Amino acid sequence: MELSILERLQQVVEKHSSTIAFASCQKEYTYEELWRAASNVASALTKSSLKKGPMLVYGESDFYALASLLGVNITGCAYVPMDSHLPFARVKMIVEACEPSAVIVTLKDKLDEKLKALFAKYHVLYQDAFAFEGKPLVNLKSAVRDEASNYIIYTSGTTGVPKGVEVSHSNLLSFTKWMMRDFKQIAQNQVLLQAPFSFDLSIFSIYPALLSGGTLVSLSRDETTNFKYLFERLNTTEINTWISTPSFVEICLLDPSFVQEKHRKLEQFIFCGEELTVKTAKKLLEKFPKAMVWNAYGPTEATGAVTQLKVTKDLLVKYDRLPLGKAKPGVEIQIHDHETEKKLSIGERGEIVIVGDSVAKGYYRDSAKTTQAFAKVDGKWAYHTGDAGLMDETGQLFYEGRIDFQVKMNGFRIELQDIESHLAALAKVDKAVVLPQIDANNKVRALVAAVIPSIKVEDEKQFIKELRKALAEKIMDYMMPQRFVLLDEFPLNHNGKVDRKILNKIIFS
Ligand code: AMP
Repeated sequence: MELSILERLQQVVEKHSSTIAFASCQKEYTYEELWRAASNVASALTKSSLKKGPMLVYGESDFYALASLLGVNITGCAYVPMDSHLPFARVKMIVEACEPSAVIVTLKDKLDEKLKALFAKYHVLYQDAFAFEGKPLVNLKSAVRDEASNYIIYTSGTTGVPKGVEVSHSNLLSFTKWMMRDFKQIAQNQVLLQAPFSFDLSIFSIYPALLSGGTLVSLSRDETTNFKYLFERLNTTEINTWISTPSFVEICLLDPSFVQEKHRKLEQFIFCGEELTVKTAKKLLEKFPKAMVWNAYGPTEATGAVTQLKVTKDLLVKYDRLPLGKAKPGVEIQIHDHETEKKLSIGERGEIVIVGDSVAKGYYRDSAKTTQAFAKVDGKWAYHTGDAGLMDETGQLFYEGRIDFQVKMNGFRIELQDIESHLAALAKVDKAVVLPQIDANNKVRALVAAVIPSIKVEDEKQFIKELRKALAEKIMDYMMPQRFVLLDEFPLNHNGKVDRKILNKIIFS
């Protein structure tokens, strides 16, 4: 039988016990410390004889959260990573949707009263309840393996309710093996961990780094949101492998110190989550002539990424929009006609459909949404991405935007209808449409909310301020529209639906 992720990690721990597994700006932790912490979390959970089911890990994406994710998996359960910066209404929706069998709070600060009351319905374990000392006693007999669920990550949903993507251990193992084979392998790899655990880009860092005895160089929230802290930290690290969204590296490229001479050990950049523009890739190859740049593509529903391409100078000259590369082993990419769902031929434009072993189980406890997006294709499990694209005769995939209203802004996945439904639910709003403002490089630069108020607005500024305040309680800060435009009516098409094209012209011309 093939070794599971945790069995492989256990072997790494035996071999590299004193190597640094996790480095934050404050502290470094060895593999032995990580394993001990994870096994102590697991034994605390096992002692509580909880029912089997997903367990929420609530806090920052720090060492204790990482140990908790692994600890939950040791007990045989899936983890649900949740960022402590989420608005309460969203936390509530997710908690009620997944009904966790335990909530592990890894925050050092106390929870506020509202959260305490919400979590009180479940079995709550606080970080200080775990002993992080002692000899690790790990029994992996009941640990997650094969088709068992490894994690559930919640993403923006069209109805305003987040969808929980349920990823199996086999999905994750297949992804990790591919990352450890088809990208540059570096001994004692220092891998950037920029993404929070609640974003599936984090699996690009966590699993390949830990299963190869590398070090996760983790950035705190302060470091990712404050330029000064970010560059101070980056200039003191010796990262070999950079993993982030293109938007994040674009911020770093603004700093003159972000060049090869200052980061001599940086050998590869891996990007996923949104379009990598020719402009950004070009700048990177100029500033880091010794490094490789990879464009990887995939949705959370297909476990991280399913295609990959090494970006070369030739490709930058050949294409205006970079290809996404070819499918990983175990995966086939097909292009389907969105209406008829018929498979299209080479060169024809349609919806990108991912077929094979990377495709997640579905949306947790939501069979209706699962049936809408997942289905069997040629006898294999497949996911209809909603991405538009085409394939050339060599198997190279090209991305051409979305066929629906999902966008990526600053690397974050946002369903415009998610924001619209929360806006329309406000008493003072009659209708709302959210439009992305797209620049010459096909990037979403801002979101604009067009709103028809349900009341007579005397003071527009004050009204918009109130909208923002009410919306902030429901959506994540990165989803907040940059601009609000009040209108009396929306243009309609011949089906009586809002004509977004004309609305787009009204707003942006
Ligand atoms: P997420 O589930 O947050 O990873 O978002 C998945 C979506 O991000 C995909 O369906 C695409 O629309 C977009 N995406 C991911 N990687 C790329 C890429 N390399 N180029 C263009 N779009 C991408």
